Amino acid sequence: MSYSADITIIGAGVIGLAIASQVTREGREVYVLEKNEAFGQEQSSRNSEVIHAGIYYERDSLKTKMCLEGNRLLYELCEKNGIAYKKCGKIIVATNDVEAEELEKLYRRGKDNGVLLKMLSKREMRQLELKLKGLAAFFSPTTGIVDSYALMRYFLGKAKGNGAQIAYNTKAIGIEKVSGGYKVKVEDLSGDFSFMTRVVINCAGLYSDKVAEMVGINIDEANYKLHWCKGEYYSVSGGRNKLINRLIYPMPTSISVGVHVCLDVNWRLRLGPLFYYVNEINYKVDDSRKKTFLESSIMKALPFMEPSDLEPETSGIIAMLQGEGEGFRDFVIKHEYDRGLPGFINLVGIESPGLTSSPAIASYVSHLVNETLESEKDCL
Ligand SMILES: Cc1cc2nc3c(=O)[nH]c(=O)nc-3n(C[C@H](O)[C@H](O)[C@H](O)COP(=O)(O)OP(=O)(O)OC[C@H]3O[C@@H](n4cnc5c(N)ncnc54)[C@H](O)[C@@H]3O)c2cc1C
Repeated sequence: MSYSADITIIGAGVIGLAIASQVTREGREVYVLEKNEAFGQEQSSRNSEVIHAGIYYERDSLKTKMCLEGNRLLYELCEKNGIAYKKCGKIIVATNDVEAEELEKLYRRGKDNGVLLKMLSKREMRQLELKLKGLAAFFSPTTGIVDSYALMRYFLGKAKGNGAQIAYNTKAIGIEKVSGGYKVKVEDLSGDFSFMTRVVINCAGLYSDKVAEMVGINIDEANYKLHWCKGEYYSVSGGRNKLINRLIYPMPTSISVGVHVCLDVNWRLRLGPLFYYVNEINYKVDDSRKKTFLESSIMKALPFMEPSDLEPETSGIIAMLQGEGEGFRDFVIKHEYDRGLPGFINLVGIESPGLTSSPAIASYVSHLVNETLESEKDCL
């Protein structure tokens, strides 16, 4: 059977692009399909751009492993390739007794994960952030921020330089398992057509459960059903944005790291994201939630902020495996050969810290792809 592609990647967000930059090599036909007219228009450009350190999750989770490795790789990559970043560090602060107890546990978890952390005295806290109010806090020096657009542009350039072809306005609408690979049906501006590929890598972000379904996976049984969670940001004006020098985080909530101080590489300051579950994609910031925003822990840690300083700004929607009221779910990164789908690799629920983890996820997936293509060669 002759193939049009060796590897087809569905989705040109940071994950699809990072993978494309690693799996492309001489002699391999690699296609990246993207339904939008440009790369990175969904989760990858609507986030906090934080390079996480690996504090929050269990040591054995993929989230922690990928985050720790991604953190290291990302700083190296930014430094080598001129991608804007700042290793500004972050403070996690507790504003009451209950939070202070939790803070201690979080600090220990981070340390267990091997993250460099420092408990701060009240004096040290004030030295780092004069205006910060809190009962207890610790500092994470390896947390930072990255220009996510520049990072994606770098991955894209590398992938294209290695021969990958990126097809925009091209949506995968059907996938059929056939002998020796997959028949992928796509829809572009001129209509629809199908082509053959040996490997499919599903990096479809918010729609990765739907793409998994296309190949016949029962997503309820597989536990791949995604829940969308919207995170809203507020910009800070009135000169108060000049009063903070680094990332400041409250204690995490059950679904996120909490409304925090976000800075970008140009030192633009925002607060957010305030997350809540949604059923549709609509990026308009719902101003009626401002009251909840003002009651969040971060506002107690920054008492100098006035409600009138905060203006609704942007939002992002994240692909969560964890439904409302449910417990922790890890990233799913899985070669589906045990479902009778050799060469089909699913990435589902790649939420935060997905941006940080992107280079580590790319090399993990690259190994899976090499194993698949090598074992096929052995069978010839
Ligand atoms: C509000 C928010 C804050 C966050 N903060 C951070 C942070 O500070 N640090 C961090 O590390 N992570 C953070 N994240 C998580 C991070 O942004 C994501 O993990 C990461 O961007 C996921 O990238 P992706 O490529 O998987 O998904 P996406 O960027 O969503 O890309 C998926 C792509 O697939 C395309 N696609 C979907 N279906 C199809 C189809 N059928 N055919 C063709 N193309 C298709 C989409 O158009 C899209 O371009 C945050 C996320 C959000 C939403």
